[in-house]
Amino acid sequence: MSESDDTTDGSTSTEEPIENDSKPVETDSETAEGDSTAADEDGSPDTTASERTPDTPEDAGVPTGSTPLEVEGLRRTFGGIVAVDDVSFDVEAGTLTGLIGPNGAGKSTTFNLITGMLEPDAGTVRFNGEEITGLQPHEIANQGLARTFQIARELEEMTVLENMMLAPKGQVGESLWRSVMPITRDEVREQETEQLERVWEVLDFFEIDHLADEYAGNLSGGQRKLLEMARALLTDPDMLLLDEPFAGVNPSLEKRLLEHIHELREQGYTFLIVEHDMDLIMNNCERVIVMHQGRVLKDGTPAEIKESEEVIEAYLGGEV
Ligand code: ADP
Ligand code: MG
Repeated sequence: MSESDDTTDGSTSTEEPIENDSKPVETDSETAEGDSTAADEDGSPDTTASERTPDTPEDAGVPTGSTPLEVEGLRRTFGGIVAVDDVSFDVEAGTLTGLIGPNGAGKSTTFNLITGMLEPDAGTVRFNGEEITGLQPHEIANQGLARTFQIARELEEMTVLENMMLAPKGQVGESLWRSVMPITRDEVREQETEQLERVWEVLDFFEIDHLADEYAGNLSGGQRKLLEMARALLTDPDMLLLDEPFAGVNPSLEKRLLEHIHELREQGYTFLIVEHDMDLIMNNCERVIVMHQGRVLKDGTPAEIKESEEVIEAYLGGEV
């Protein structure tokens, strides 16, 4: 991946005016965005995702103490600008961890360094105990660390289902090997059936299965975000990194996205969410890392962050 085509913000950015969710292709009123009963079906607490007190990882049956993502001494400069300056943090398994900070704090650069979109000048990134620093983005994804990608222009002319079928899969190494090995027609069919089943399962989970035949280009901003997350899940990751997943998403879809994220976390997935909206992160994450001017300013629970004088100053002093 060339660095020159990487913008200051590797994923969907707030700069891109995403049309509001006027539901251009929403056909099924049962699954309309305002569906407030979704959270009740599985007997989960009757609160909205944005008010929900984060459960502890223990509640999710995830072993605590393990840190799938370990970032140490990351540094990246652009010309004279030190975008990321000696950044170190861990992300604990089964948590929703937020990475926040004012504009220009270095969040997206950190995200791009972790996911292999940019190479660091110094520092290491380890995932599940193995060093992944400098690996290509697809190699990192294959190790189980997924990120979302904006739906590319070519993919807008394909349907949601086609987008899902074309999404990068886990175990690419194995399928490459398979592709040169003699393999029976039955085996091919079996693999395709399994893939299709998984695709439908994920579409159903994100409640976009009714949009399967819709062109991706016709989706609303929020529906695109759901498709982007659905595609990322197909790589069978352990952990997902999301850069401003709620940018340009209307409040009801934001709530739905948050519910999906909480549900996935309860299934054991680990999340690192990059976001400039402090309240959103405070209300939904059990752990928050605050960046300011390329450095980690504070790392702690939402309560600890809220009490931090430096954090308050950074936010009030900066152009948030
Ligand atoms: P955030 O995501 O927290 O808003 P960024 O990581 O995008 O911050 O940016 C951190 C700093 O690095 C900013 O000063 C930004 O202008 C600079 N920067 C980021 N990417 C590039 C790039 N590709 N070229 C030059 N400067 C960059
Ligand atoms: Mg950014």
